[in-house]
Parts: sequence; C-alpha cells; structure tokens
Amino acid sequence: MIQNDSIRQVLNTYWGFDTFRPLQEEAIHAGITGQDAIVVVPTGGGKSLCYQLPAAMRETGLTLVVSPLLALMKDQVDALLAKGISAAYYNSSLTASERREVESGIATGQYRLLYVAPERFADNAFVSLLQSASVTAVAIDEAHCISQWGHDFRPDYRRMAGLREIFPDATIQAFTATATPRVREDIVEQLHLKDPVILVGNFDRSNLTYRILPRRKARERVRDIVEKHQGSAGIIYCIRRKDVDELTAYLSAEGHSALGYHAGMDNDTRRAHQEAFATWEVDIIIATVAFGMGIDRSDVRFVVHMAMPQSLEHYQQETGRAGRDGDPADCYLFYSAADGMTWKAIFQKGDAPGQSTGFQDVRVAQLSEMEAFCQSTTCRHMSLCNHFGQYYKSDNCVACDICLGEIKTMDDSTVLAQKILSAVVKTGERFGAKYVANVLCGASDALIDERGHASLSVYGLLSEHAQGDIVAWINQLSADGLLAVGSEYRTFSVTEEGWSVLRGNQEARLLLPATPVKSAPRRSRSAGSTLKRRPVSRGGTSISTETADGDDIDMALYEKLRKLRYDLATEQSMPAFCVMSNKTLEGITRVRPTDEDGFRQIPGIGPKKFAQYGDQFLECVRAHIGG
Ligand code: ADP
Repeated sequence: MIQNDSIRQVLNTYWGFDTFRPLQEEAIHAGITGQDAIVVVPTGGGKSLCYQLPAAMRETGLTLVVSPLLALMKDQVDALLAKGISAAYYNSSLTASERREVESGIATGQYRLLYVAPERFADNAFVSLLQSASVTAVAIDEAHCISQWGHDFRPDYRRMAGLREIFPDATIQAFTATATPRVREDIVEQLHLKDPVILVGNFDRSNLTYRILPRRKARERVRDIVEKHQGSAGIIYCIRRKDVDELTAYLSAEGHSALGYHAGMDNDTRRAHQEAFATWEVDIIIATVAFGMGIDRSDVRFVVHMAMPQSLEHYQQETGRAGRDGDPADCYLFYSAADGMTWKAIFQKGDAPGQSTGFQDVRVAQLSEMEAFCQSTTCRHMSLCNHFGQYYKSDNCVACDICLGEIKTMDDSTVLAQKILSAVVKTGERFGAKYVANVLCGASDALIDERGHASLSVYGLLSEHAQGDIVAWINQLSADGLLAVGSEYRTFSVTEEGWSVLRGNQEARLLLPATPVKSAPRRSRSAGSTLKRRPVSRGGTSISTETADGDDIDMALYEKLRKLRYDLATEQSMPAFCVMSNKTLEGITRVRPTDEDGFRQIPGIGPKKFAQYGDQFLECVRAHIGG
C-alpha cells in the first residue's frame, strides 16, 4: 500500500500544497486502494484533487472524469498538463483532427486522465474505444445530477448506471457538493457502487449569517444592504429575467455599479459581465440562478435572494458563494408566501432554470421543504445541517435571524400552537394544512360538514386569524418538528414533540404573520358554498363582521357564547354542536335575548334546550350587555 508520505510528496511536488483539506486524504486513499466511494464536500472543498492525485500516482491506467461542465474541462486539463500530468478532454468543442488525436492517445494509453461529458456514453464506438483502453477508475463529478431528487437532474447522467457493466474492474467514485441523504442513497444505488466509502464533509458555513425577511419594500431594502456593504462584492438572485433587469436599472439609478446576468442575454454580454465581476471591475451582480457555476471569487460578502429559491439545495449552493474566504458574510432572503405559487407556475410551464422535464412531484416536494425552511422558527444553520443529513451541535449559532432574536413571534405562540395541534388530532391526523386551517377558521364547506368537523370544539377556534396565516403556522410547526408530514400526501400528524407542547411541557414559537389584517378565506357563493367569517374579538373590543347571511354581528358576544358552548360540551363529554348549533349561536348573538320569551324565539331553541342550557346562555348575554 502506498504510504502517506509518498502521497504528501506528490501533493507537494505536483500541486505545491503542504496539507490536505478535510476528507481529501481519505478520498485519495480510497482511490489508490481501489475502493468505490461517494465524496460529498462543499464547493471549493477541493474535490478535483481527490481523483487527480491517485491518477497522477499511477504509472499506467486511465482515470475517466465525467463532468457536465464542458467549459471547465479545458482549464482543468491545461492545469494538469502544466503540472506534467498527461491529460486530455473529449467533447463536442474539438475539431475532427483534435478528436482523432485524442482517440489515438486513448488507444496508446498516453493519458492518466480523460475528461468526458456524460452524453459521450451514447456513442458506442467511443465506449468501445474506452473499453479497449485500460480504465482503472471513473470519477463522476456533480454526481447529484444522476438523481431526480437532486436539484439539477440531468437525464444524460442516467447512462452512468451502465458504467459498472462497461468497466467491471474500475473503481467508481462519485463527487458532489450537495447531496441530502436521499440523493446520496440514490447515487450509490444508480451507480451500483460496491461497498462504497462514504465521506461527507461539514456543510455548516459558520461564517454565514442567514436572515429571512418578509418581502416588503424589498428594492429599498436591497439598496440599504448594498450601501451597508459598500465596496464589497455581492450577488443578488432573482427568479425572473425581468426582475434582474429592473433591479439592475434601479440600483444603477441609485448610483451603484451593478451588472445583470441571465440566460436571455447574448453570450458575449453574459461573458463580459461575468468577467467584470470575476476581475473585480464590478462588485454587484444581479442574476438568475444561471450565474455562479465556476465563479471563483472568494470575497463575496453578501448574497441576497429577492424571492425564495426553488429548493434548499439551490439555497445552500447560492448562499455558499458568499464568504468563501472564510470571513463573515451575510445572506438575506426576501420571502413571500406567493413565491411557492410563482415556482409552481414556472414548473408547469417547464422553464425553471436547470429544470428537466417531468419530476413535478420531486420539484414540488423540494419547494415545500424550502417553504418550510422560510417559515420555520428553528435555527437556520441547524435546519440546513439537518437537511443535509448532519447533526448540528450548538444551541445558538449566533449567526441567523432566529438565534439573534431578530424575528417577531406571536405573544401567545404556545396556546396558538396547542389549538392548531388539537385541531390536527381532532380531525384524525388525516388532512393537509389548508383543510385543518379551514376547520380552525370556521369555514363552511361541504366536506367539513360531511365529515362532522363543523361540530368539533376546534371548529372556528382561530376564526380571528386568516386562513393563510394558519397554514403558514402549520408549516412552521411541521418545520419545527411538532407535526410530521405524511409520506404519500401532505397530511399532518402530531409528533412526540408536538404532544409535549400539547401537554404544556414545551413551548412553541410562531412567527408574527406577514398579513397584518385578518381576511378569512372566502368562496364565491355561485360555487355553491359560502364561507362564514366568524366573529372575532380582540382585546375585549367588539368588532363586527359579516356572517353567511350577510349581516353584521357582535363578535365578542359570539365568542363568549362559543366558549360557553365549548365548556358545557366538555363538561358533558359531548360534541359542541349537540349543545347548540352555530346557527343558533348566531341567532342568540343577533337577538341578544335577556329573558325566556326572547330566547325561545331563536330558531333551534325548543323547551328542552331552554331547560337544559337557557339559564347559562341568558346569563352570558346579560353579562355581556351589562359589561
Ligand atoms: P471543488 O471541486 O470541490 O469545488 P476544486 O477542486 O475546484 O474544488 O478546488 C478548489 C480550490 O482549492 C482550487 O483552487 C484548488 O487548487 C484548491 N485546493 C484543493 N486542495 C487544496 C489543498 N489541499 N490545499 C490548498 N488548496 C487546495
């Protein structure tokens, strides 16, 4: 076996480095000893060395490097040649005579490394040529592209599944910067890796401070961010090209030198802008996700997302371009609940950047994870680490809006969370966020009625809140681990931790909603369903609102009656609607009876009901009017 000393010597002689970066040594050992491996190291971690060094150490044998980044192949090969390591690349950019030259080099065993694009494996003649050469190892760069669960699935990578059969004796090693446990498993399975060494680097970028802000006056706030970081480099990501153009114009008008970058620009302009950024001529670049591959500017001090990216993988990769020199850097994301819809519309049209056709479910699932991250009140560093299958050790990262105490939460968060969790339990832990939110809002819809959920004690319990806010809180509770999401459908059930909150053993935090004013979900009557906005009471002040019948009622009174109904029902262990229907409660609120006669006129109040509950309800009305 080759000793560490000789590996270090090669490192020093050929690369001029004295030490290895994390996991490089382990990966190189695996390469030299012919073990399959999957190496997950953040961008800039030095993955190339992991397959280049073992290749350079071999006297004979070819290492195939599969990479989708054609533009970078030439640079890599030039760098190897400059070190005296024999290497070549074979792709569509070569002329016919250059191709012939490389083919003959392959046939004569001239190269230690050969860079190829995945689509090369569709060419049978080329594959036969490779089979006749002595391929010792295959290194697959950007290996997440093989998985539909990755953020950049490329159908061409599917061909890599046949590598094991094409080169039965070669060591296969997969390299990627982003891989969740799910993607990792997929890579191992698809490449038929044999008992692979699994090396996963540290994904936490402790020098980055993450902040998620509601998207209000975003342009002005971006300008403030740029001004705060005056003289530093920054990347601002937008979803759409037109947003790039508008923001570039705005910042330029505000006196900042900024350039745009998106796929709608011609190649020359794009290259010129990328070059201007890379050579420090300009510090601010405003781009769609198309920007960044291969950018090696390590002094980026801030990254702004003008809207939510489509997945946590994208977020990690794009924010990862900040602070690569190890100095502190800031990441801001302007989030709006509408972002999810924007992405879904883009997916439907099939033109998301880097999007392959199909796999809508995967895209939507990744979007939900991203949304949950934005809505969560859990430390951002911890959430990202967990997502990438790592344990985060600190209780307070001191480098995110949550841990820095910058987010605003509801005063009654725990009680609110208990109400939501109760609704999930009472509806049988079988429904999605919207349904549970509708029940809590007191929405009148046929399905809720049919399932008898309108008579649950939790029905209308959060009528003072907008349905959208409740949905967001449900997602927050899920992101914070108090609710679990079903594997098949996005239905929710209460976790152990959730039960701990329900029992009052643990506190919960819910974000102050972005929508300050209540607006309950409303359906058009012509659609055959009306939605009642239940009365609300804030701080004891009566506020009137519209009912299904279109008139105004005293919400504070309604709330008191509903609370009384809830107490009576609980006392007798019966559903609330058996005590009094919503319609009857509305009637009492409207008529405000203070004696038996008045009370008996309300629809739904017969002698039996009056005998059972009349006194309590009358007392409630009298106390309300008197108070
Ligand atoms: P990745 O593919 O993981 O994004 P690269 O292989 O492109 O990273 O390496 C990123 C940079 O780190 C390169 O400039 C490379 O020369 C440098 N590098 C790699 N390994 C070491 C090391 N052991 N010591 C110092 N610099 C290194």
